[in-house]
Amino acid sequence: MGDPFDLVVVGAGTGGYSTALIAAQLGKRVAIVEQGERLGGTCLLRGCIPTKALLQSAAVMDTVERASEWGIKAAGEPDWSAIVAFEDSMVDKLVKGLTGLVKLRGIEVVSGSARIRSGPGVDVGDRGLETSAVVIASGSRPKMLPGLELTPRIITSDQALWYDRLPGSAVVIGAGAVGLEFASLYRSFGAEVTLIEALPRLAPLEDDEVSREIGRAFRKRGITAVASAAVKEVTDTGRHLSRCRRARTRDRWTRAQGGRGRPHRPRLRSGG
Ligand SMILES: Cc1cc2nc3c(=O)[nH]c(=O)nc-3n(C[C@H](O)[C@H](O)[C@H](O)COP(=O)(O)OP(=O)(O)OC[C@H]3O[C@@H](n4cnc5c(N)ncnc54)[C@H](O)[C@@H]3O)c2cc1C
Repeated sequence: MGDPFDLVVVGAGTGGYSTALIAAQLGKRVAIVEQGERLGGTCLLRGCIPTKALLQSAAVMDTVERASEWGIKAAGEPDWSAIVAFEDSMVDKLVKGLTGLVKLRGIEVVSGSARIRSGPGVDVGDRGLETSAVVIASGSRPKMLPGLELTPRIITSDQALWYDRLPGSAVVIGAGAVGLEFASLYRSFGAEVTLIEALPRLAPLEDDEVSREIGRAFRKRGITAVASAAVKEVTDTGRHLSRCRRARTRDRWTRAQGGRGRPHRPRLRSGG
């Protein structure tokens, strides 16, 4: 017989920890199982919070670039390791706060990968957690394109958050919220940015008007944005060239030439 809990929550992301906190507040005996090293899941550790910290640094950079408009002489240069340190400090602070709150509410944190069994019950390594209810809040992972493999220069948003340097140029695939954020912050830090979206407009889940406004703002900032372009293949050849073929325009190729002398850039081939 394992430990008896009223509720076992699998996953300590936003969904999991808020469920656990509320159940504990209602007087339930709760365990939360997390396979990662820290509580917080995607939002705290590799999503909302770190990206917002980076965007804050990017906003400061934008303000410095425009300082003369307010009569201030200023010149800024992004210090990537300091930017990442700021990002880390924001994440650490919130993870610490969450960990303290979970402890305060008497929630037991069990480290490891959960396996659900009938009963219901949850196994974590050799330990069995007996419970009358299980909530699965195991979240999601970045989705790779079919056949695409990570390399040091073909990365997802997870790697981008703690990349070892700022890219001189970047091709961002996907113009949903996450892609838009990275395109914007890379541009603020001086990179040449090409944004590629398979659907007919940027921010495809938002209203048309929002897409148009983002398109206008990005054009003004020198971000190349291509919609209706389904990326079929990304090849890391070490050449200074990225290409994509637009799905709707026969044989038309958009060339995204990188800017700042980064020696190796991915060549990006696509077809529609
Ligand atoms: C770059 C980026 C930026 C984002 N920005 C925003 C934003 O600004 N605003 C917003 O609302 N949303 C944003 N999101 C989305 C947001 O992060 C997710 O919607 C949210 O984290 C989902 O929470 P969740 O609890 O469902 O899953 P997750 O946060 O993914 O948590 C799932 C947890 O379950 C654990 N787990 C999985 N399987 C097991 C197992 N078998 N045993 C034990 N543990 C397990 C995982 O390790 C993980 O910690 C962003 C996402 C990304 C990637």
